[in-house]
Amino acid sequence: MLFDLQPKMRREDLYDREEELKEFSEAVELGETLVLLLGIRRLGKSSLLNVALSESGKPFSKIDVRSLYFTHGSIPQELLARKLLEGLLKSLKGRDKLRIGLVNALSRVKGVKISGIQVEFDEKPDLSELLERLDAWAEKTGKRVIIAFDEAQYLRLSGIQYDGLIAYAVDNLPNLTFVLTGSEVGMLHDFIGLDNPRKPLFGRYAREITLKRFSREQSGDFLRRGFDELGVKVHEEEIERVVEKLDGIVGWLTLYGYLRGVRKLPEKDALDELFERAKALVLDEISTLTRYSARYWYLLKAVSLGNDSWSSIKEYVEFKAGKINDAKFSALLKNLVKYGYLEKTSDGYSIPDPVVREVIKK
Ligand code: ADP
Ligand code: MG
Repeated sequence: MLFDLQPKMRREDLYDREEELKEFSEAVELGETLVLLLGIRRLGKSSLLNVALSESGKPFSKIDVRSLYFTHGSIPQELLARKLLEGLLKSLKGRDKLRIGLVNALSRVKGVKISGIQVEFDEKPDLSELLERLDAWAEKTGKRVIIAFDEAQYLRLSGIQYDGLIAYAVDNLPNLTFVLTGSEVGMLHDFIGLDNPRKPLFGRYAREITLKRFSREQSGDFLRRGFDELGVKVHEEEIERVVEKLDGIVGWLTLYGYLRGVRKLPEKDALDELFERAKALVLDEISTLTRYSARYWYLLKAVSLGNDSWSSIKEYVEFKAGKINDAKFSALLKNLVKYGYLEKTSDGYSIPDPVVREVIKK
């Protein structure tokens, strides 16, 4: 169902994204070892990743780094190793002539046996060794293994140098493909540092797939198809009004479709509830930032109200929160761009998601 709120798993529930799927499978078939899937929140990265992985026909493991980080407060190697193996085992289920055995001690992964190759961990599982074994297994069986980190920028908060580990694997383990997705595009780029001579992945090639928002035509078509699927009749004028407000962000279109088509709310109530939920969601998402500095909130507020230049935003922030020096102000502004909350174009600064803009403006 197009209006299902969960990230999509199956091709038939995924609207469009043909090009992106093609590019993904091309990268994998060519044996590329690093793929980046980029785009602001709610553009459908996780959905695309799920479908791409299941269509790939390869053994894969997908790790939701963001939820791992928030559940555990950190991402120790042992946890990552265990999640990696659990995911892989799940993807092999069913078509498993491959005899993968997991040694489980006290619900912690103690080791893994992969068709004859046994990895025993001592106290701390060695992730690089595990990756080496997987690579060896992949080479032997001729099956490339895909390892996907969803919202990978959270790996940088773990205190462990996962960038170095990924760099090592990208350079030395040719039968593994790493896929990193990121809503905080600038943070992800900082983390892997392809352009930073001081970072381990400097100068490496990565396939970058950047998700775009739907066009107006696609957004309308998406809604019409979703409502058709549910047998719900909706006027063309309504479709146009909604597309105008939600502007090509598939996550919001899906939520609207769900509230209107599944919950059967009238247009106005569905929109009210959408903005209500969006508000809670957005406040939660930016709370990590605003807890760090309340000025982030005023910065976003300034832009939501139409201030688009460095100086007009600064003026607003100083009016609300007192004097701030230029360097500090620029740093905050730059961070908001890195986190994907602001976009900087030749026209100045803007909030890329119209729903987020509305929520902050109010
Ligand atoms: P992201 O990972 O970029 O934040 P998600 O994959 O979680 O985005 O998608 C956000 C919402 O939009 C979910 O409700 C999901 O079901 C829906 N969605 C995303 N992409 C598509 C698509 N191509 N077709 C239909 N629904 C989609
Ligand atoms: Mg996601």
